[in-house]
Amino acid sequence: MTVRVRLAPSPTGNLHIGTARTAVFNWLFARHQGGKFILRIEDTDKERSRPEYTDNIQSGLTWLGLDWDEGPFFQTQRIDFYCKAIQTLLDRGVAYRSYTSPEELEQMREKQKAKNQAPRYDNRDRDLSAEQQAAYEAQGRKPVIRFKIDDAREIVWNDLVRGEVVWKGSDLGGDMVVARAAETEGQEFGQPLYNLAVVVDDIDMQITHVIRGEDHIANTAKQILLYEALGANVPEFAHTPLILSQEGRKLSKRDGVTSIDEFRKMGFLPEAMANYMALLGWTPPDSTQEIFTLAEAAEKFGLERVNQAGQNLTGINSIGLTVNTCIKCQPRSWLNY
Ligand code: GLU
Repeated sequence: MTVRVRLAPSPTGNLHIGTARTAVFNWLFARHQGGKFILRIEDTDKERSRPEYTDNIQSGLTWLGLDWDEGPFFQTQRIDFYCKAIQTLLDRGVAYRSYTSPEELEQMREKQKAKNQAPRYDNRDRDLSAEQQAAYEAQGRKPVIRFKIDDAREIVWNDLVRGEVVWKGSDLGGDMVVARAAETEGQEFGQPLYNLAVVVDDIDMQITHVIRGEDHIANTAKQILLYEALGANVPEFAHTPLILSQEGRKLSKRDGVTSIDEFRKMGFLPEAMANYMALLGWTPPDSTQEIFTLAEAAEKFGLERVNQAGQNLTGINSIGLTVNTCIKCQPRSWLNY
């Protein structure tokens, strides 16, 4: 089996340090395993995606010394694949047209909130009769496509960073929307959504290992159900800890410099940045080694030495920095070696 991994950034902003670190781990893993590293631009969010961000992501990766073997592929050029998969789900009876209006969804959420319940779709359109559907169509309602999620299901996978992860179907928010409503006359359905597109692409691109931030764990549970429904093999998953601010929160603009571009403009050397990011969450086998090139790190890289989420707040890595250390607080001299 040839290892195939991918970086799948959304071009809705400049290359972020979190995405860059995910890229570093994917690249190191691919190079260590003699595998392939694929770049896929997830640009289906038309409002927020911009070509200049795609350029920034590519030039940022190149600046860091991360080359890719295939791509960039663009999701907006692959819509037909997603539509075909949605049709397959409909044909197999595991997806359906859902006519619940935004106002009705809002009411549903309000009621759940009043009862202190987590927001979820109540699956009310799962078993509509042909007459009910026709009545909704006659009202001019445009359906979204929902994928059925069995509340009784337990989704289990052996995460290569976190070990066994168990997720309850009932915690996934009810049947999930995989395609928006059609925008133009004659269209079967509208824009395919993230979880569906990712799974279709990862199947088509024969991705063997999905290495990404732990903010995607709930998506992984949903995606495993989609792999099964599409009759595909489920890849391995590795969820890496996020880079957090000093306060332990997800890094945001408020925390100062977060894009690779800004670090470059401030004069940091690409080798130092790449070195630093490799050590944000990974400990080399010889934990006294602090300074190395990416190629040297690739010789030793393995996911078993990536820190588990939850340990990162107190976990000290080999250079004596907590993984969640706010990068802007580091002495510049350290990065400018
Ligand atoms: N487009 C997603 C993101 O930028 C990628 C998620 C994934 O790696 O599957 O977060």
